[in-house]
Parts: sequence; C-alpha cells; structure tokens
Amino acid sequence: MPELPEVETVARGLSKKILGKTIREVTLHRADIRFPIPKILPAKVRGQKIIAIDRLSKYILLRLADGGRVLIHLGMSGRMFFETEKTYARGKHDHVVFSFPKGLLVIFNDARRFGVIDYIAAKTKAHKLLDAVGMDPFSKDLTPQVLFDKIRTRKTDMKAILMNQKIIAGLGNIYVSEALFRAKMRPTRSGTKVTLKECKKLLSAIRAVLTEAIKAGGSSLRDYVQTDGELGYFQSKFRVYDREGKPCPACKTKIERITQSGRSTYFCSTCQK
Ligand SMILES: [Zn+2]
Repeated sequence: MPELPEVETVARGLSKKILGKTIREVTLHRADIRFPIPKILPAKVRGQKIIAIDRLSKYILLRLADGGRVLIHLGMSGRMFFETEKTYARGKHDHVVFSFPKGLLVIFNDARRFGVIDYIAAKTKAHKLLDAVGMDPFSKDLTPQVLFDKIRTRKTDMKAILMNQKIIAGLGNIYVSEALFRAKMRPTRSGTKVTLKECKKLLSAIRAVLTEAIKAGGSSLRDYVQTDGELGYFQSKFRVYDREGKPCPACKTKIERITQSGRSTYFCSTCQK
C-alpha cells in the first residue's frame, strides 16, 4: 500500500510535470472506484489550470485556478504515471486519464479499486474524507506536547496508536515499525506509559524515517511505481521491518516479529523498551 512517503513522491512527480498546466480533458473509464467518481468532474475541470499540488496525509489535492480541487487517494494499489497520447495503449486498470497540452497524459491506474478520485467545488469547505484525517506528521502544530496529550490517556499499544489515522495521519505498518525502533520504544507499550521526553524522540524519529523515505523516492513492496516509472528503493534501508531473525543493526539481537491487530510488527527486544 502506498504510504505517506510514496504519496509525497507521487505529488512531487506530478508537480514537476503538470503544475501550472491546463487540464484539456479528463476521461473516466469507470463510474466508480472505491466511491463513485462525480460525473460532473470532467466538465468542471476542463480548461482549468492547476495552480498548486498539495499532499494532505495520503491525499493528493490538485488545486485549480477557479478554487475547485481534485482529490486523489491511491488506496491499496493505486498508481499514477505519465504517457504520451501518440503511444498510449490503455491498460486494463487505467480508470481515469487526465489530458494536458502537447499530448501529455496522466493515468490513474488501480487494480484493486480502493483508490478515490473526487471533485471538491470552490465553495465546499467540509469534505467527509478530509475532515476525518488526523494531523500530518510534518505539521508545525504537531509538537511533542501535542503528541503527548494525544497519547497519554490511551491504554492501547503504541503500534495501534500510531496506526490510528485520526491521531497522526499517513503512517502505515512499515514506517510505524521503523519509527518505534529509532525511538527505542516497544510497539506493545501502552500509551499511558509514554513520557513527554519520549514523545519528543518519537516525533523526531517519525519525521526522520519519513524524510529519508521521501528522499529515497518511497518504498516499493508490490507493484507500486513512481510517477516517473522508477521503482523506489527505501526497502533496502529498513532496520527492523521485514527483517525477522536478522541481526538488529544497533546491537545484533535477532529482530522479532509479532502480530498486532492482524498485521506484522518487527522490533528489537534489546533496544526497544
Ligand atoms: Zn537492538
């Protein structure tokens, strides 16, 4: 599943090629993916210039000159890539095609169809998906104290707390394991047993791991492809994730794997308390 670094990579890839360009046409090859795609979308965005491309948690927002926005979520298997009109042959899961001048196409492909494409009109302030999103890990408003206040009363484990998109948005299984390792915090620890000082370390660890992954172009576990068609390579830098039985890079203890809420968690029982 594309995680925050992959989505940031896609947003940056899109910015390089289509920021400032005018959408010529949008072709919908399906009426729905996870949710129905608004039928009015092509008419609303046709002829609109893209004035900004933002990432909010794992959503990408194409901001249009008239104040409208196109909301994109890659879901489990969504990919976006560039094609040229002349040579493009539509793939089976190419659900939405954005056309730009000079034959440039941006394809939204999603085999499992958990992705989202929506249109938000200029006057619309609330959006059910965006309103449910927690704080972005890079938000200036997310301070160690704010994080501490969000965590301290929760009796669930730290893995579940960090995976909860309503608390911090955009962290998935991989980066939670990696961030907890760097913060030397056991994924099974209760939120009530975390100190403010540890929250400071944890927040730095979360940002460090995401920043490194963004620099590396996002990770690639399955068929995820960047907007420029290159595979990411952050997975070669995982310190604990998917490294069961291998030595901890800090102390050589064998990395353990446990299951939490049905998903694998990796940690070092020596380094993480
Ligand atoms: Zn260790």
